[in-house]
Amino acid sequence: MITETANAASRKAILALAESPTLHRFVGRHGMRLGAARFVAGETLDQLVPVLRRLNEQGLLTNTTLLGEGVTSAEEAGAVVAAYREVLDRIRAESLKTNVSVKLTHLGLAIDEQLAYENVSALLAHAAGLGNFVRMDMEESPFVDTTLRIYRRLREAGHENTGTVLQSYLYRSEDDLASLLDLRPNLRFVKGAYLEPPDVAYPDKADVDAAFTRLVERSLREGGFTAVATHDERLIERTIEFAEREGIARDRFQFQLLYGVRPQLQLELVRRGFAVLVATPFGPDWYRYLMRRLAERPANTLFFVKNLVRG
Ligand SMILES: Cc1cc2nc3c(=O)[nH]c(=O)nc-3n(C[C@H](O)[C@H](O)[C@H](O)COP(=O)(O)OP(=O)(O)OC[C@H]3O[C@@H](n4cnc5c(N)ncnc54)[C@H](O)[C@@H]3O)c2cc1C
Repeated sequence: MITETANAASRKAILALAESPTLHRFVGRHGMRLGAARFVAGETLDQLVPVLRRLNEQGLLTNTTLLGEGVTSAEEAGAVVAAYREVLDRIRAESLKTNVSVKLTHLGLAIDEQLAYENVSALLAHAAGLGNFVRMDMEESPFVDTTLRIYRRLREAGHENTGTVLQSYLYRSEDDLASLLDLRPNLRFVKGAYLEPPDVAYPDKADVDAAFTRLVERSLREGGFTAVATHDERLIERTIEFAEREGIARDRFQFQLLYGVRPQLQLELVRRGFAVLVATPFGPDWYRYLMRRLAERPANTLFFVKNLVRG
């Protein structure tokens, strides 16, 4: 209990500290060398491709994300769309088992909902031509309504090759799941990675975990495709037991874990015959992603600081 409280406090402190421009400058300059490479598969597409290939060769599916979020101009968002087209083309050319996961604020959602809709819609059309799939990540709570609205619009416009994410720390997510079921949605379930106030998100980990199980079980029973994205072995085993008990086919769900986190567990799940996808981001704009990974586990920060001290 004391550890849990300490973890929650250090998580909040790291996420708050991440906003410091000085820290951003320092980590941005030295971070790859100090340990960011554990979580980020390189800064360029050429560095990413061999990492994806190696994961695929181990029986792991992959997705990739060009890191970045919160763009502030339509031109910038347009450049992100162009970069993702290149990523999708390269995935196809290299015959990788890799799909794509985007953040809508990277495609302009913080500027204008219609802009983000048009950008993601263009990407989905491009991906469909290549037989690929694009998931929309879930970001901070003010973007949940717009992200879910865009997901529904895309599906109603006939885009089948897309899915989104629900975060179990948000009180609203069980209602959101209920409201999406008519679409037979492809949903990823996560605990949630951002700093959210107690009026929108459960402050206690036990409540977040319990909500995670309720969401996953309802999605498995009534939904379309369920991606169970956690490194929490207890929740993974609970999912497996539930799926076996309810006779849910293994092609209706998959486990998703992050590149650099619990690699042995990833391979063990493959060995047991489950579909496992490793989320493998890349790109030079990795600072915020890294800070969220450090916040999730104080030991990661320690590892980073030790590298700093060693020089
Ligand atoms: C594939 C994938 C996609 C995601 N997409 C989103 C998204 O769209 N929106 C969003 O808000 N969040 C997203 N997340 C992050 C998620 O919300 C959690 O912050 C993150 O997964 C940590 O929670 P956990 O479920 O692993 O459980 P926790 O209870 O945090 O961790 C369980 C155990 O896993 C291990 N672990 C967890 N995190 C780490 C880490 N960073 N480094 C080392 N070990 C770790 C530790 O052993 C820990 O004890 C995603 C996570 C994954 C795996």
